[in-house]
Amino acid sequence: MKGLVLSATLNTFYVLCEDNVVRLCSIKGKRIQSLSGTYNCLASGDSVEIVPTDQGKGLVEKLYPRRNVFGRYNEKGKAEQAIAANVDLVCCVASVCLPPFRPRFIDRVAVLAEYSSLPFVIIVNKIDLGIADEVTTRLDGYEKLGYKVFRISVKDGIGLDSVDNFIQGKLSVFAGQSGVGKSSLVNALFPGLKRTTQEVSVKYNRGKHTTTMAELLIRDDGAKIVDTPGVRRLALRSIPPSALSSCFPEILAQEAFCKLGSKCTHTGEDGCSVPDAVDIGEINLDRYESYLRIFAELAEAETWKRKQQGALGRESVSRKEWVRRSGGKAFRQNSLSRNTLENLDGFSDYDE
Ligand code: GDP
Repeated sequence: MKGLVLSATLNTFYVLCEDNVVRLCSIKGKRIQSLSGTYNCLASGDSVEIVPTDQGKGLVEKLYPRRNVFGRYNEKGKAEQAIAANVDLVCCVASVCLPPFRPRFIDRVAVLAEYSSLPFVIIVNKIDLGIADEVTTRLDGYEKLGYKVFRISVKDGIGLDSVDNFIQGKLSVFAGQSGVGKSSLVNALFPGLKRTTQEVSVKYNRGKHTTTMAELLIRDDGAKIVDTPGVRRLALRSIPPSALSSCFPEILAQEAFCKLGSKCTHTGEDGCSVPDAVDIGEINLDRYESYLRIFAELAEAETWKRKQQGALGRESVSRKEWVRRSGGKAFRQNSLSRNTLENLDGFSDYDE
């Protein structure tokens, strides 16, 4: 029987089956071969084949090919983690204040979306509290890059219709930091929302997982939202540093003007046209700083991986131990130290 994964832990999956029953499933044989090396097997949005077993449970037999995956790097599991599969749209939910507007977080979600070639939009909530000029400037900047921005207030019911229309017929992932009003928004978009996985959880005494796992919600008109848990920070480590410029449309556009062309990392090479574009305001300085920070993080991750495989021989060391042995040099990439990056704008907690 065919089914749609609503939510997934490492070894239990809530699957909406063809007969309209949500079953708590596990994987037959415990593994899906094609996904070895990743943190998790299945994600919300996955299409699977299951065999129903007794008591409304089931066994997943097969994962149908994914159209795409929206994922992140799982720091604890040290591997790529799929958050949602077969996605049409990635929505970063932010707030104008309370908690503060955090463009670095938005940039990170945008990078993850761009890396998976997924359309990306920003939903900025709490506009009833007023929008500071610097926030307006940043939002305008995102629009210039081609990202749609919805300015909404769940509290006052402003802008909800346009979000509602936009998500129709799509599977949209909602990601946001805690406190921005993501749950309030989801509840407004899904009046009378009943989380079926929660009901199944309670039935099988697994009450807690829905607060920490992504969950696919389906509206009567077919709109689907994958509601992800609020996070503080998104790790991007599995993106190769060389692929980062293609995740920043304004930096990618400069490639044609850089002396080194597609080989330019845009982190200080002679003949790189990005700093000039920043000087004349064609590229937003803060976006460039986001780029540099993420680049340093990705380069550090890559160097660490290489060192672990090579220079340190076969001995396996923890990341912390390796940083200690390298005297902190592990953080230096292209002459930009982590401290430099953090001091660039005085927003050292910007993306935390
Ligand atoms: P989440 O952590 O992102 O899911 O955020 P919640 O939906 O739990 O909301 C966090 C807080 O923001 C709650 O106190 C909400 O009442 C409040 N909130 C949500 N939307 C709005 C809004 O549009 N305006 C204002 N002023 N507060 C809001």
